[in-house]
Amino acid sequence: MSTLPPCPQCGSAFTYEDGAMLICPECAHEWSKEAASETDLPPENSLPRVA
Ligand SMILES: [Zn+2]
Repeated sequence: MSTLPPCPQCGSAFTYEDGAMLICPECAHEWSKEAASETDLPPENSLPRVA
């Protein structure tokens, strides 16, 4: 199984793939895997936790 990156918007780990896109069920944010890999965000970047 491949590990998907967490949502860049809310930090949720429950992201899933839809073709070339990654989708977050928590905030409905959609982004492309290619763009995510280009950005190469560090995993410990401090995202605001919106519960
Ligand atoms: Zn999200």
